[in-house]
Amino acid sequence: MHIVVHKAKCQGHARCWAQAPNIFKLDDEGYVLPGDINVAQEDELLASRAVRSCPESALEIDRTSAARFEPAEMQPRAGEA
Ligand code: SF4
Repeated sequence: MHIVVHKAKCQGHARCWAQAPNIFKLDDEGYVLPGDINVAQEDELLASRAVRSCPESALEIDRTSAARFEPAEMQPRAGEA
């Protein structure tokens, strides 16, 4: 699972961190750090709860991202199907 961080929406409530401090990192003022987050399978439930707890919708679950991170050698080359 992959979490998209919409940093501009973050208002520094720290609710995500309160739910999952090992997944969500905050700056000194309590705002989530920029950069999308890859979540290990065993942490997905916790991460989902944290995403839902954000009152600003600053966090978004992207379950399709695994395909985007597929190693280049696994993806078809131009001209292949
Ligand atoms: S809960 Fe939402 S608004 Fe609060 S720090 Fe986390 S991402 Fe930002």
